[in-house]
Amino acid sequence: MGHPATAAAAAADLPAHILIFPLPMQGHINSMLKLAELLCLSGLHVTMLLSDYTHRRLRRHADIESHFSRYSGFRVATISDGLPDDHPRAGERAMDIVMSLVKVGGSEFRRLIETTDALSDGGSRRRISCLIMDGVLSFAVPVAKEIGIPVIYFRTVGACSFWANYSFKEVIAAGEIPLKGKEEDKYSYASKPELDFPVTSVPGMEGYLRRRDLPAFCRVSDVNDAGFNTIITETRRTALSDGLILNTFEDLEGPILDQIRNQIPVVYSIGPLHCRLEKEATLPSSSFWEEDHGCMAWLDSQPDRSVLYVSFGSVTLLSKEELLEIWYGLVDSGQRFLWVMRPDSIVGGDGGSPSIPVELEKATKARGYMVGWVPQNKVLAHPSLGAFFTHSGWNSTLESIAAGIPMICWPYFADQMINSRFASEVWKVGLDIKDTCDRAIVEKTVRDVMEVRKDEFWERARQMAELAKKAVSEGGSSYLNLNRLIEFLKSSI
Ligand code: UDP
Repeated sequence: MGHPATAAAAAADLPAHILIFPLPMQGHINSMLKLAELLCLSGLHVTMLLSDYTHRRLRRHADIESHFSRYSGFRVATISDGLPDDHPRAGERAMDIVMSLVKVGGSEFRRLIETTDALSDGGSRRRISCLIMDGVLSFAVPVAKEIGIPVIYFRTVGACSFWANYSFKEVIAAGEIPLKGKEEDKYSYASKPELDFPVTSVPGMEGYLRRRDLPAFCRVSDVNDAGFNTIITETRRTALSDGLILNTFEDLEGPILDQIRNQIPVVYSIGPLHCRLEKEATLPSSSFWEEDHGCMAWLDSQPDRSVLYVSFGSVTLLSKEELLEIWYGLVDSGQRFLWVMRPDSIVGGDGGSPSIPVELEKATKARGYMVGWVPQNKVLAHPSLGAFFTHSGWNSTLESIAAGIPMICWPYFADQMINSRFASEVWKVGLDIKDTCDRAIVEKTVRDVMEVRKDEFWERARQMAELAKKAVSEGGSSYLNLNRLIEFLKSSI
């Protein structure tokens, strides 16, 4: 055993040690792993805290440990998310991960910090000097406060969604939520004219935000709904933190970021993180599913700007009826398409695999390519891409913007409702078909984006992509904000 004074002297030479704790879901891990790598590149020590379940998925399909082995300061630690392995963590059940962690996460986190002497690895690294955690995991804060370290929140959603969530109390007071009717058929929202009323109680969004564009947490009949209240409470707690990180950039969401800064003085807008990382390293895969690289050869054989990429992310579930409406719409549009259909994403009906009408099979063979999971950033960068039919998850939205690809937005839940409004009405890079699922609407929208208004959307998307690149280039707003964050983290020892 070394002499304590020698150990203390050795520890004094060690860099700050940052614990990054994402909500254990695909989209959250994708952006927080990129931040982890950027911090490693700046010489910091980083421990990534994953759930046992997600760690196993990543080991199986992404092998992050081998990618990160080039950084001696990188480690993974794990805790349980409190759910059994076979729990369905998709669709509405994804919220179970949040609720379970809210219940068991505090004691799990405390146990980890206490049994590992704050992750010091027996003195080869400092005890953690700062916690960067996902927005809904505030149970970790009391433990961090006890050991006297700063806490920074990383919300992996857009500023627009964060700010709407932050304003929920005011929106309730104004009588603009709840949006009743969660129990009903969700497409009944389409025919409710009251949902087109403007929302006036989210500062900075007057003029374009309608009730139907509010994050879907508001689609409850009762303002006391547990999930809805967790979002409100956790979001408000951000104001008590030492700062807020958002994977966005000033030229995209500047006016909303200014509103947030009225409540939370230290905001680091540092995105798009994948663009910054691409400049300094190769982008690692962090997929929970096996990536099919065969689709790249298919894309190579297609004409430029001719393929509609269809993907609804890692959580969305489709009923067989929805599947068929979208499929017919695509086929009837006559366009080529590459469709990511996750193995677990079709639900309902008789439980068997859906019988696919012959005309869909035939048209798909002729003009389509179906796949279980793809390297999305590579797909978006391919010259054959014409547009992205997306569920408007924040990562997908930002990746599409950075790649300069127009969007058709079909949001499913959560923040996606507001992201799609911003994509269509504020950034004007595509069209929003929320609250509908109808083959004729899909067909018309696909034609509009891929043919009729193609030039208009491509030009807007090109402008936004340039701004994204400028933000992460030397001297750009995100570049400087990340440097500012790194300086703060280095000084946290
Ligand atoms: N993604 C991917 N391959 C796919 C589909 C999605 O790598 O076939 C990635 C995508 O690039 C994004 C993430 O999965 O980074 C999905 O996150 P998003 O926030 O868009 O949606 P969520 O899955 O959280 O609903």
